[in-house]
Amino acid sequence: MAKRHGLPPKMTVDELVAIERTPPAWLVQSRANRTGKPVWVELECVVCGYHEAARPKKWWPEYTYLSCDDHGADELPEPEPGVVRAEVDGVGSRFVAIVDVAP
Ligand SMILES: [Zn+2]
Repeated sequence: MAKRHGLPPKMTVDELVAIERTPPAWLVQSRANRTGKPVWVELECVVCGYHEAARPKKWWPEYTYLSCDDHGADELPEPEPGVVRAEVDGVGSRFVAIVDVAP
């Protein structure tokens, strides 16, 4: 599909972000056919600000923060008192989803 639309096989994050800002007609059309679900989401590390665009996966949790998988837990913002924090690996290419849940 990428070939058919004349996109290079590998895009950089900047190119993806540029497309997001000015989506070409075929992308708008393709989204309209997908019951309004976003095709790409922007993932951003809360610690260092690294970001990338990724296709959302159904199994991703509803996260409070994202962090690169090479940051320590002590680099993250403190959880609110009383919440239970869980981490889910494997979001995007390098992110850990931090999920704070109030019991
Ligand atoms: Zn980071």
